[in-house]
Amino acid sequence: MDTTMRKYMEAFGFASPRQVSCEICGHPAAMIHHIRGTAGSLRTRPDNMIAVCRHCNLEIRAGQLKPEFLKRKHTRFAQFRALLNRVR
Ligand SMILES: [Zn+2]
Repeated sequence: MDTTMRKYMEAFGFASPRQVSCEICGHPAAMIHHIRGTAGSLRTRPDNMIAVCRHCNLEIRAGQLKPEFLKRKHTRFAQFRALLNRVR
């Protein structure tokens, strides 16, 4: 398992990479995509890491899925933020 997947699982409370689904289509996730690149802290920020399957990753690479769309699709982060607000 790569470091990015491990960081993603830590951030969102997954015990196994097999539990992680693509946040765009729901199929099993193959990798973690960095929505706005990997400069500095962006590499490990939960708001910048979206789980994607191979097919959706290809669409991202082809430029068919834009960062703004991915940010809206990153609902796992919205749930994470809601949870944090409840704890505060
Ligand atoms: Zn997908």
